[in-house]
Amino acid sequence: MGVGFELFKDAVVWEEVEVLNLSGKPYTVFTPYSKAWKAKTIPAPRPKFPARNLKSEISVFKSDALPKSPDECGYPLTQTIPPGGERAALELLRKFMAAPVYEYGTARNFPAVDGGSNLSPHLRAGTIGIRTILAELAKAREKAAPAQKPSCEVFLNELIWREFYAQVLHNFPHVTRGAFRPEYDALKWSDNQEHFAAWCEGKTGYPIVDAAMRCLNATGTMHNRLRMIVAMFLTKDLMVNWQLGERYFMRQLVDGDMAANNGGWQWSAGTGTDAAPYFRIFNPVSQAEKFDAEGKFVRHWIPELKDFSDDLVHQPWENPLLLSRSKYCPRIVLHEEQRDLCLAMFKAVKGDLKT
Ligand SMILES: Cc1cc2nc3c(=O)[nH]c(=O)nc-3n(C[C@H](O)[C@H](O)[C@H](O)COP(=O)(O)OP(=O)(O)OC[C@H]3O[C@@H](n4cnc5c(N)ncnc54)[C@H](O)[C@@H]3O)c2cc1C
Repeated sequence: MGVGFELFKDAVVWEEVEVLNLSGKPYTVFTPYSKAWKAKTIPAPRPKFPARNLKSEISVFKSDALPKSPDECGYPLTQTIPPGGERAALELLRKFMAAPVYEYGTARNFPAVDGGSNLSPHLRAGTIGIRTILAELAKAREKAAPAQKPSCEVFLNELIWREFYAQVLHNFPHVTRGAFRPEYDALKWSDNQEHFAAWCEGKTGYPIVDAAMRCLNATGTMHNRLRMIVAMFLTKDLMVNWQLGERYFMRQLVDGDMAANNGGWQWSAGTGTDAAPYFRIFNPVSQAEKFDAEGKFVRHWIPELKDFSDDLVHQPWENPLLLSRSKYCPRIVLHEEQRDLCLAMFKAVKGDLKT
Protein backbone atom coordinates (compact mmCIF):
# COMPACT_ATOMS: atom_id res chain seq x y z
CA MET A 1 0.00 0.00 0.00
CA GLY A 2 3.04 2.23 -0.16
CA VAL A 3 3.11 2.72 3.62
CA GLY A 4 6.64 2.91 4.95
CA PHE A 5 7.77 1.36 8.21
CA GLU A 6 10.77 1.51 10.48
CA LEU A 7 12.07 -1.08 12.93
CA PHE A 8 13.03 -0.17 16.48
CA LYS A 9 14.76 -2.12 19.21
CA ASP A 10 12.38 -2.11 22.13
CA ALA A 11 12.53 -5.37 24.08
CA VAL A 12 15.56 -4.11 26.00
CA VAL A 13 17.55 -0.88 26.24
CA TRP A 14 20.93 -2.53 25.60
CA GLU A 15 20.89 -5.73 23.65
CA GLU A 16 23.15 -8.59 22.67
CA VAL A 17 26.68 -7.10 22.56
CA GLU A 18 26.00 -3.47 23.46
CA VAL A 19 27.34 -3.80 27.02
CA LEU A 20 30.72 -5.55 27.02
CA ASN A 21 33.65 -5.55 29.45
CA LEU A 22 36.97 -3.81 28.79
CA SER A 23 38.25 -6.85 26.89
CA GLY A 24 35.24 -6.71 24.61
CA LYS A 25 33.75 -9.85 26.17
CA PRO A 26 30.20 -10.31 27.53
CA TYR A 27 29.75 -10.02 31.28
CA THR A 28 28.94 -13.11 33.32
CA VAL A 29 28.62 -11.35 36.68
CA PHE A 30 25.74 -9.00 37.40
CA THR A 31 27.34 -6.17 39.45
CA PRO A 32 30.01 -5.08 36.92
CA TYR A 33 27.43 -5.54 34.14
CA SER A 34 24.97 -3.25 35.91
CA LYS A 35 27.68 -0.61 36.50
CA ALA A 36 28.55 -0.59 32.79
CA TRP A 37 24.83 -0.54 31.92
CA LYS A 38 24.22 2.46 34.20
CA ALA A 39 27.20 4.35 32.75
CA LYS A 40 25.43 4.57 29.39
CA THR A 41 22.81 7.21 28.62
CA ILE A 42 19.31 5.79 28.42
CA PRO A 43 17.53 6.90 25.28
CA ALA A 44 14.13 8.56 25.74
CA PRO A 45 10.98 6.78 24.57
CA ARG A 46 10.06 7.45 20.93
CA PRO A 47 7.57 10.28 20.58
CA LYS A 48 4.01 9.13 19.91
CA PHE A 49 2.94 9.11 16.29
CA PRO A 50 0.16 11.58 15.50
CA ALA A 51 -3.27 9.95 15.51
CA ARG A 52 -4.52 8.98 12.06
CA ASN A 53 -7.76 7.67 10.85
CA LEU A 54 -6.64 4.23 9.79
CA LYS A 55 -10.13 2.90 9.29
CA SER A 56 -10.30 3.77 5.61
CA GLU A 57 -6.72 2.60 5.04
CA ILE A 58 -7.26 -0.83 6.51
CA SER A 59 -10.76 -1.37 5.19
CA VAL A 60 -9.26 -3.24 2.23
CA PHE A 61 -8.40 -6.10 4.57
CA LYS A 62 -11.18 -8.58 5.15
CA SER A 63 -10.95 -10.60 8.31
CA ASP A 64 -13.07 -13.16 10.12
CA ALA A 65 -14.35 -11.94 13.48
CA LEU A 66 -11.66 -12.25 16.13
CA PRO A 67 -12.32 -14.96 18.72
CA LYS A 68 -13.56 -13.58 22.03
CA SER A 69 -11.94 -16.27 24.15
CA PRO A 70 -9.31 -19.02 23.84
CA ASP A 71 -12.15 -21.59 24.10
CA GLU A 72 -13.32 -20.54 20.66
CA CYS A 73 -9.90 -21.46 19.26
CA GLY A 74 -10.03 -24.86 20.91
CA TYR A 75 -7.60 -23.92 23.71
CA PRO A 76 -9.71 -23.61 26.84
CA LEU A 77 -7.81 -21.62 29.43
CA THR A 78 -7.63 -23.12 32.91
CA GLN A 79 -6.02 -20.04 34.45
CA THR A 80 -7.42 -16.66 35.40
CA ILE A 81 -4.88 -14.35 33.82
CA PRO A 82 -4.43 -10.57 34.17
CA PRO A 83 -5.79 -8.24 31.46
CA GLY A 84 -3.50 -7.70 28.46
CA GLY A 85 -2.88 -4.81 26.09
CA GLU A 86 -1.08 -1.48 26.28
CA ARG A 87 -3.81 0.28 28.23
CA ALA A 88 -3.65 -2.30 31.02
CA ALA A 89 0.16 -2.05 31.02
CA LEU A 90 0.19 1.75 31.32
CA GLU A 91 -2.37 1.59 34.11
CA LEU A 92 -0.13 -0.82 36.06
CA LEU A 93 2.83 1.47 35.49
CA ARG A 94 0.89 4.52 36.65
CA LYS A 95 -0.30 2.79 39.81
CA PHE A 96 3.14 1.42 40.64
CA MET A 97 4.92 4.76 40.16
CA ALA A 98 2.30 6.60 42.24
CA ALA A 99 3.47 4.97 45.50
CA PRO A 100 4.54 1.28 45.61
CA VAL A 101 7.87 2.01 43.88
CA TYR A 102 8.95 3.90 47.02
CA GLU A 103 8.43 0.84 49.22
CA TYR A 104 9.58 -1.66 46.61
CA GLY A 105 12.97 -2.42 48.22
CA THR A 106 11.24 -4.11 51.17
CA ALA A 107 7.71 -4.87 50.00
CA ARG A 108 8.89 -6.86 46.97
CA ASN A 109 9.86 -9.76 49.21
CA PHE A 110 6.46 -10.53 50.73
CA PRO A 111 4.11 -12.68 48.63
CA ALA A 112 0.98 -11.57 50.50
CA VAL A 113 1.79 -7.92 49.68
CA ASP A 114 1.40 -6.66 46.13
CA GLY A 115 4.83 -5.00 46.24
CA GLY A 116 5.98 -5.56 42.65
CA SER A 117 5.01 -3.77 39.45
CA ASN A 118 3.36 -6.86 37.87
CA LEU A 119 4.70 -5.61 34.56
CA SER A 120 6.52 -8.80 33.55
CA PRO A 121 3.76 -10.19 31.26
CA HIS A 122 3.68 -6.84 29.48
CA LEU A 123 7.43 -6.61 29.15
CA ARG A 124 7.38 -10.13 27.79
CA ALA A 125 4.57 -9.48 25.32
CA GLY A 126 5.85 -6.06 24.29
CA THR A 127 2.72 -4.24 25.40
CA ILE A 128 4.93 -1.73 27.20
CA GLY A 129 8.28 -0.31 26.16
CA ILE A 130 11.22 -0.58 28.53
CA ARG A 131 12.16 3.08 27.87
CA THR A 132 8.66 4.18 28.87
CA ILE A 133 9.13 2.42 32.22
CA LEU A 134 12.58 3.93 32.69
CA ALA A 135 11.33 7.44 31.87
CA GLU A 136 8.58 7.13 34.51
CA LEU A 137 11.08 5.70 37.00
CA ALA A 138 13.36 8.71 36.46
CA LYS A 139 10.42 11.04 37.23
CA ALA A 140 9.50 9.07 40.34
CA ARG A 141 13.10 9.16 41.50
CA GLU A 142 13.19 12.93 41.18
CA LYS A 143 10.14 13.21 43.45
CA ALA A 144 11.41 10.64 45.97
CA ALA A 145 12.43 11.57 49.50
CA PRO A 146 16.05 10.57 50.29
CA ALA A 147 14.88 7.47 52.18
CA GLN A 148 12.81 6.36 49.17
CA LYS A 149 15.57 6.60 46.57
CA PRO A 150 17.15 3.22 47.37
CA SER A 151 13.84 1.52 46.52
CA CYS A 152 13.87 3.18 43.10
CA GLU A 153 17.42 1.90 42.66
CA VAL A 154 16.41 -1.66 43.57
CA PHE A 155 13.65 -1.51 40.95
CA LEU A 156 16.12 -0.27 38.34
CA ASN A 157 18.43 -3.16 39.22
CA GLU A 158 15.66 -5.68 38.61
CA LEU A 159 15.07 -4.23 35.16
CA ILE A 160 18.81 -4.54 34.56
CA TRP A 161 18.75 -8.21 35.70
CA ARG A 162 16.29 -8.75 32.88
CA GLU A 163 18.74 -7.29 30.35
CA PHE A 164 21.64 -9.16 31.96
CA TYR A 165 19.91 -12.49 31.35
CA ALA A 166 18.87 -11.44 27.83
CA GLN A 167 22.51 -10.89 26.90
CA VAL A 168 23.56 -14.13 28.64
CA LEU A 169 21.09 -15.98 26.43
CA HIS A 170 22.45 -14.29 23.31
CA ASN A 171 26.13 -14.72 24.12
CA PHE A 172 25.97 -18.17 25.73
CA PRO A 173 23.14 -19.93 23.89
CA HIS A 174 24.26 -23.30 25.29
CA VAL A 175 22.31 -22.35 28.47
CA THR A 176 19.15 -23.41 26.67
CA ARG A 177 20.45 -26.98 26.51
CA GLY A 178 22.35 -27.33 29.78
CA ALA A 179 24.22 -25.66 32.61
CA PHE A 180 26.03 -22.36 32.00
CA ARG A 181 29.00 -24.12 33.59
CA PRO A 182 29.02 -27.35 31.58
CA GLU A 183 30.78 -29.20 34.42
CA TYR A 184 27.43 -29.19 36.22
CA ASP A 185 25.84 -31.21 33.44
CA ALA A 186 27.47 -34.20 35.11
CA LEU A 187 25.26 -33.86 38.22
CA LYS A 188 23.36 -37.08 38.93
CA TRP A 189 19.86 -35.72 39.38
CA SER A 190 17.06 -37.84 40.78
CA ASP A 191 14.57 -39.23 38.28
CA ASN A 192 11.79 -39.65 40.83
CA GLN A 193 8.74 -38.80 38.69
CA GLU A 194 6.38 -38.93 41.67
CA HIS A 195 8.34 -36.21 43.41
CA PHE A 196 8.26 -34.06 40.29
CA ALA A 197 4.50 -34.59 39.89
CA ALA A 198 3.91 -33.70 43.57
CA TRP A 199 5.90 -30.49 43.09
CA CYS A 200 3.92 -29.55 39.95
CA GLU A 201 0.58 -30.19 41.66
CA GLY A 202 1.45 -28.44 44.94
CA LYS A 203 1.39 -31.62 47.03
CA THR A 204 4.87 -31.83 48.58
CA GLY A 205 3.66 -31.30 52.15
CA TYR A 206 5.71 -28.07 52.42
CA PRO A 207 3.03 -25.37 52.60
CA ILE A 208 4.98 -22.46 51.11
CA VAL A 209 6.04 -24.60 48.13
CA ASP A 210 2.57 -26.01 47.59
CA ALA A 211 0.81 -22.65 47.94
CA ALA A 212 3.18 -21.13 45.37
CA MET A 213 2.66 -23.96 42.88
CA ARG A 214 -1.12 -23.89 43.29
CA CYS A 215 -1.03 -20.13 42.70
CA LEU A 216 1.03 -20.65 39.54
CA ASN A 217 -1.32 -23.32 38.23
CA ALA A 218 -4.38 -21.17 38.88
CA THR A 219 -3.13 -17.76 37.76
CA GLY A 220 -0.09 -18.20 35.51
CA THR A 221 1.93 -15.98 37.81
CA MET A 222 4.18 -16.46 40.82
CA HIS A 223 5.88 -14.00 43.13
CA ASN A 224 9.66 -13.68 42.66
CA ARG A 225 10.52 -14.81 46.20
CA LEU A 226 8.35 -17.89 45.69
CA ARG A 227 9.96 -18.67 42.34
CA MET A 228 13.29 -18.84 44.14
CA ILE A 229 11.85 -20.99 46.95
CA VAL A 230 10.14 -23.54 44.68
CA ALA A 231 13.10 -23.69 42.30
CA MET A 232 15.50 -24.32 45.18
CA PHE A 233 13.13 -26.92 46.59
CA LEU A 234 12.85 -28.83 43.31
CA THR A 235 16.60 -28.81 42.67
CA LYS A 236 18.01 -29.04 46.20
CA ASP A 237 15.37 -30.87 48.24
CA LEU A 238 13.95 -33.14 45.54
CA MET A 239 17.20 -33.09 43.55
CA VAL A 240 15.25 -33.01 40.30
CA ASN A 241 17.00 -31.52 37.26
CA TRP A 242 16.33 -27.76 37.02
CA GLN A 243 15.51 -28.17 33.33
CA LEU A 244 12.26 -29.97 34.20
CA GLY A 245 11.23 -27.08 36.41
CA GLU A 246 12.30 -24.58 33.76
CA ARG A 247 10.08 -26.31 31.19
CA TYR A 248 7.12 -26.52 33.57
CA PHE A 249 7.42 -22.80 34.35
CA MET A 250 7.52 -21.92 30.64
CA ARG A 251 4.28 -23.85 30.13
CA GLN A 252 2.48 -22.19 33.03
CA LEU A 253 3.79 -18.63 33.31
CA VAL A 254 2.03 -15.72 31.66
CA ASP A 255 5.38 -13.90 31.68
CA GLY A 256 7.34 -17.01 30.58
CA ASP A 257 10.57 -15.64 29.12
CA MET A 258 13.36 -17.92 27.94
CA ALA A 259 16.17 -15.65 29.18
CA ALA A 260 14.80 -14.62 32.61
CA ASN A 261 13.40 -18.06 33.32
CA ASN A 262 16.58 -19.87 32.40
CA GLY A 263 18.60 -17.35 34.42
CA GLY A 264 16.33 -17.74 37.45
CA TRP A 265 16.47 -21.52 37.31
CA GLN A 266 20.21 -21.71 36.86
CA TRP A 267 20.66 -19.16 39.65
CA SER A 268 18.57 -21.29 41.99
CA ALA A 269 20.19 -24.56 40.98
CA GLY A 270 23.65 -23.02 41.40
CA THR A 271 24.68 -23.91 37.84
CA GLY A 272 24.49 -20.46 36.23
CA THR A 273 26.20 -17.11 35.81
CA ASP A 274 26.53 -15.29 39.09
CA ALA A 275 24.40 -18.01 40.65
CA ALA A 276 23.70 -18.76 44.28
CA PRO A 277 26.58 -21.04 45.36
CA TYR A 278 25.45 -24.68 45.35
CA PHE A 279 25.76 -24.98 49.12
CA ARG A 280 23.33 -22.11 49.67
CA ILE A 281 20.14 -24.06 50.22
CA PHE A 282 16.96 -22.29 51.26
CA ASN A 283 15.15 -23.81 54.22
CA PRO A 284 11.49 -23.72 53.09
CA VAL A 285 10.22 -23.31 56.66
CA SER A 286 12.45 -20.40 57.65
CA GLN A 287 11.87 -18.71 54.29
CA ALA A 288 8.12 -19.03 54.86
CA GLU A 289 8.36 -17.76 58.44
CA LYS A 290 10.34 -14.76 57.28
CA PHE A 291 8.34 -13.79 54.22
CA ASP A 292 4.84 -15.02 55.10
CA ALA A 293 5.01 -14.65 58.88
CA GLU A 294 1.25 -14.72 59.45
CA GLY A 295 0.67 -17.49 56.92
CA LYS A 296 -1.68 -15.25 54.94
CA PHE A 297 -0.44 -16.38 51.53
CA VAL A 298 -0.26 -20.04 52.50
CA ARG A 299 -3.78 -20.14 53.98
CA HIS A 300 -5.20 -18.45 50.89
CA TRP A 301 -3.97 -21.22 48.58
CA ILE A 302 -4.20 -24.15 50.99
CA PRO A 303 -7.58 -23.98 52.72
CA GLU A 304 -6.81 -27.35 54.33
CA LEU A 305 -4.49 -25.42 56.68
CA LYS A 306 -7.08 -22.98 57.97
CA ASP A 307 -7.17 -24.55 61.47
CA PHE A 308 -3.41 -24.36 61.99
CA SER A 309 -2.06 -21.53 64.15
CA ASP A 310 0.58 -19.13 62.81
CA ASP A 311 3.42 -21.05 64.45
CA LEU A 312 2.30 -24.34 62.87
CA VAL A 313 1.00 -23.26 59.50
CA HIS A 314 4.42 -23.51 57.86
CA GLN A 315 5.27 -26.82 59.52
CA PRO A 316 1.96 -28.66 60.01
CA TRP A 317 3.78 -31.95 60.65
CA GLU A 318 4.62 -30.61 64.12
CA ASN A 319 1.02 -31.43 65.06
CA PRO A 320 0.55 -34.92 63.58
CA LEU A 321 -2.97 -35.34 64.96
CA LEU A 322 -4.26 -32.11 63.42
CA LEU A 323 -2.43 -32.92 60.17
CA SER A 324 -4.02 -36.33 59.89
CA ARG A 325 -7.47 -34.79 60.49
CA SER A 326 -6.91 -32.10 57.87
CA LYS A 327 -6.92 -33.08 54.19
CA TYR A 328 -3.39 -31.69 53.71
CA CYS A 329 -0.67 -34.08 52.55
CA PRO A 330 2.30 -35.26 54.63
CA ARG A 331 5.88 -34.24 53.67
CA ILE A 332 7.29 -36.26 50.78
CA VAL A 333 10.90 -35.69 51.94
CA LEU A 334 12.68 -34.40 55.04
CA HIS A 335 14.53 -31.17 54.31
CA GLU A 336 17.39 -31.90 56.70
CA GLU A 337 18.13 -35.29 55.13
CA GLN A 338 17.80 -34.05 51.57
CA ARG A 339 20.15 -31.18 52.24
CA ASP A 340 23.00 -33.59 53.00
CA LEU A 341 22.19 -35.76 50.00
CA CYS A 342 22.15 -32.72 47.76
CA LEU A 343 25.49 -31.45 49.06
CA ALA A 344 26.94 -34.89 48.36
CA MET A 345 25.51 -34.80 44.81
CA PHE A 346 27.22 -31.47 44.13
CA LYS A 347 30.46 -32.47 45.85
CA ALA A 348 30.68 -35.53 43.59
CA VAL A 349 31.22 -33.24 40.57
CA LYS A 350 32.84 -30.33 42.37
CA GLY A 351 36.26 -32.01 42.29
CA ASP A 352 36.36 -31.37 38.57
CA LEU A 353 35.30 -27.73 38.81
CA LYS A 354 37.67 -24.88 38.24
CA THR A 355 35.66 -22.25 40.15
C1 LIG B 1 13.10 -19.60 38.89
C2 LIG B 1 12.73 -18.24 38.34
C3 LIG B 1 12.07 -18.14 37.12
C4 LIG B 1 11.73 -16.89 36.59
N1 LIG B 1 11.08 -16.83 35.38
C5 LIG B 1 10.78 -15.63 34.85
C6 LIG B 1 10.14 -15.54 33.57
O1 LIG B 1 9.86 -16.54 32.91
N2 LIG B 1 9.82 -14.30 33.09
C7 LIG B 1 10.12 -13.16 33.79
O2 LIG B 1 9.81 -12.05 33.30
N3 LIG B 1 10.75 -13.21 34.97
C8 LIG B 1 11.08 -14.40 35.53
N4 LIG B 1 11.70 -14.45 36.76
C9 LIG B 1 12.07 -13.18 37.43
C10 LIG B 1 11.02 -12.60 38.38
O3 LIG B 1 10.55 -13.59 39.25
C11 LIG B 1 9.83 -11.95 37.65
O4 LIG B 1 10.31 -11.08 36.66
C12 LIG B 1 8.97 -11.15 38.61
O5 LIG B 1 8.44 -12.01 39.61
C13 LIG B 1 7.83 -10.48 37.86
O6 LIG B 1 7.03 -9.73 38.74
P1 LIG B 1 6.95 -8.14 38.59
O7 LIG B 1 6.61 -7.80 37.19
O8 LIG B 1 6.05 -7.64 39.68
O9 LIG B 1 8.46 -7.76 38.85
P2 LIG B 1 9.08 -6.46 39.51
O10 LIG B 1 9.64 -6.87 40.81
O11 LIG B 1 8.17 -5.32 39.46
O12 LIG B 1 10.34 -6.17 38.55
C14 LIG B 1 10.23 -5.36 37.38
C15 LIG B 1 10.60 -6.13 36.15
O13 LIG B 1 11.98 -6.48 36.19
C16 LIG B 1 12.18 -7.76 35.59
N5 LIG B 1 12.74 -8.65 36.60
C17 LIG B 1 12.51 -8.62 37.93
N6 LIG B 1 13.24 -9.56 38.58
C18 LIG B 1 13.93 -10.21 37.59
C19 LIG B 1 14.85 -11.28 37.61
N7 LIG B 1 15.25 -11.87 38.75
N8 LIG B 1 15.35 -11.70 36.43
C20 LIG B 1 14.99 -11.12 35.27
N9 LIG B 1 14.13 -10.10 35.19
C21 LIG B 1 13.60 -9.65 36.35
C22 LIG B 1 10.81 -8.24 35.12
O14 LIG B 1 10.66 -7.92 33.77
C23 LIG B 1 9.85 -7.44 36.00
O15 LIG B 1 8.60 -7.25 35.42
C24 LIG B 1 12.07 -15.70 37.30
C25 LIG B 1 12.72 -15.81 38.54
C26 LIG B 1 13.05 -17.06 39.05
C27 LIG B 1 13.76 -17.14 40.38
